[in-house]
Amino acid sequence: MIPLADALGLYIHWPYCARICPYCDFNVYRPKGQEDALLEAILADMSHWRTRTGARPLTSLHFGGGTPSLMTGAQIERLVSHAESLWGLEAEAEIGLEANPNNVDHYADFIAAGINRLSVGVQSLDDAALKQLGRDHDGALARRAIERAMAVCECVSIDMIYARAGQTAKSWEDELREILAFGAGHISPYQLTIEARTAFGRRAARGEQLDSPEELAADLYELTHEICEAAGLATYEISNHARSPADQSRHNRLYWEGGDWIGVGPGAHGRIGSASETGRLACEARAHPKAYLDAVAASGHGLANTEALSAADERAERILMGLRLSEGLDLQVLQRKTGLTLDLAAFERLSSQGLVERVAGRIRLLPAGRIFADRISGELVPDAA
Ligand code: SF4
Repeated sequence: MIPLADALGLYIHWPYCARICPYCDFNVYRPKGQEDALLEAILADMSHWRTRTGARPLTSLHFGGGTPSLMTGAQIERLVSHAESLWGLEAEAEIGLEANPNNVDHYADFIAAGINRLSVGVQSLDDAALKQLGRDHDGALARRAIERAMAVCECVSIDMIYARAGQTAKSWEDELREILAFGAGHISPYQLTIEARTAFGRRAARGEQLDSPEELAADLYELTHEICEAAGLATYEISNHARSPADQSRHNRLYWEGGDWIGVGPGAHGRIGSASETGRLACEARAHPKAYLDAVAASGHGLANTEALSAADERAERILMGLRLSEGLDLQVLQRKTGLTLDLAAFERLSSQGLVERVAGRIRLLPAGRIFADRISGELVPDAA
């Protein structure tokens, strides 16, 4: 198995959603009948990327969005087959898809198409909370979606949103315990964040309280950690918990460990290379589906921007991402990829404050440091200290 820091992943962004949730700031659109054209454009973009990356087997292939479960099994099968024919897939490659509960009747088709990991976007089991979040499914469908996913797929993850307005520690604990009782190997509880350019952002600007107060949100985060750990799902990343290393998301770990990934589809981001090779490129595809379609038609690829990161920028990004992992940032990989190290004086200072520690060649956050992850990452970057 290729170490994730040296591996290659592929991210496919399917930007369409049946309904746009009021808290969502992803690159999403209502379908406008361009789905078949977009599928062809993504296939062409993948072929373009193969000429840039050369022959390297894919460690992971991830369908995100938007709502990739709006695709048919046949569409997904074409994308998986094309990826396999272009790059090949590692023997244990993870092929994941973010699945909306509304598409529950198609989960088996996705497995038949090659998907081996389903992340079910349940968000909550509570009807009132789902309504408050603007979701178009209820608690009964959320439960059915989890059961169906677990019946057809060995590797299931459940996405939840907490720190919602009106939520108490007790109500979150009950909800989380019910989710854990399904027995899935992975859970991703995300704290609700209010982004300015969303419907929730506009409502919050008018004074509406849509999320939990900061102090309660911090308590709910700690509670989540404790309940998941007690249920046997270890926290391996700030918002991700897994029963075993095999249950962890390989695709997301590839991001956190600083591997390479290609992003295709509207607005998809990618990272290729490192300062110690030919430099690390940050790539971004055109965001609007129409602009993406036009770009692929005109030039064979959907890229809007490619930026060559400096070694210092790459280091800052690797520190930020690596510290998200409970195992922490691999110092040897940082040195090998960028030729740089972190601010050792800052590390000693943060260590003496009980915020970070060094274990087996890795720097990791201690429990007291978790809530300050972004500030600590910044301080460990020499120029920002
Ligand atoms: S379904 Fe997911 S991606 Fe689509 S709008 Fe809602 S939160 Fe965003």
